Amino acid sequence: MHVLVDHPCVQHKLAIIRDVETDHKQFRELATEITQFLCYEALKNIPMKDVDVQTPVAMAKCRKIDTDLVVVPILRAGVGMLDGILALVPTARVGFVGLYRDEETAQPVTYYERFPPQVESGTCIIIDPMLATGGSTNAAIDMLKEQGASDIVVICIVTCPEGIAAVEAEHRDVPIYTAAIDDRLNEKKYIVPGLGDAGDRLYGTSH
Ligand code: URA
Repeated sequence: MHVLVDHPCVQHKLAIIRDVETDHKQFRELATEITQFLCYEALKNIPMKDVDVQTPVAMAKCRKIDTDLVVVPILRAGVGMLDGILALVPTARVGFVGLYRDEETAQPVTYYERFPPQVESGTCIIIDPMLATGGSTNAAIDMLKEQGASDIVVICIVTCPEGIAAVEAEHRDVPIYTAAIDDRLNEKKYIVPGLGDAGDRLYGTSH
């Protein structure tokens, strides 16, 4: 299952974040803002519990979130979405996945992995701005499932048909929330039109 968040506020920000003239400061701010909208959608169906709250006037029947939330940024670009999630759900715990692409095999190789124990019973939110080939996302999902996670959602800013197909082929139970499903991958595995290298643009490392 994948959900394209097509809201005008998201699409307006997406147009600016894609722009080659957008600098790293504005890119970071937009990544945070877009992530908040995506997270808002992605958490629509998380477990809730009924609670009674005493207001100054009377008792009110209310609902509160009833699951441990664990955000898992894929290093390095995923960290650029972390503030957006934590602005919405400040009590979320944070795990990290570090992956690099083996030049010979083109397969993702893990160099860092650290998760809170709540991944097993809670709701895990994998964040990575670009879901391109799906290799890193699938590796992160595999790692979480090995830790016992069964409730996982992926949030990305931009994806493409190849990325969605790769994740859905291996993990049909993991929904993907995105602001854009672009045309394709190019020969360098960049998303077209995409927004370039999200890590470089977030951290100002390209030029
Ligand atoms: N990673 C990026 O940063 N950009 C792409 O287009 C694909 C993967």
